[in-house]
Amino acid sequence: MTRESIASKGTRYLTEARLTVQYVSGDTVRATCRGSGDVYRCGHDPRRGWYCSCPATRDCAHLYALQSVTVRRAEATEISGKASRIPPDLIRGEEWACPQTVGSEP
Ligand SMILES: [Zn+2]
Repeated sequence: MTRESIASKGTRYLTEARLTVQYVSGDTVRATCRGSGDVYRCGHDPRRGWYCSCPATRDCAHLYALQSVTVRRAEATEISGKASRIPPDLIRGEEWACPQTVGSEP
């Protein structure tokens, strides 16, 4: 059994639309990510930094997925303008959530 790397796992979570960003405002990010069965709450807080409710103590694929869509990486800024800026409707400060279909998939 080969272990999938965090990077490839995180990228897969994105392509499979397992990540739901629920709230973005300044340095605060809240999201949920569906792992292999469970849905984990992850995000960033100015005081505690990046966090995830999954059992992994260090970097996990959920945070990798979240960071790759929310963190402005040096190498990503030149790719396109839309990737380096948060859409205006995410910065209004009000919470919004996408309907989730937890457990409806095999
Ligand atoms: Zn995690």
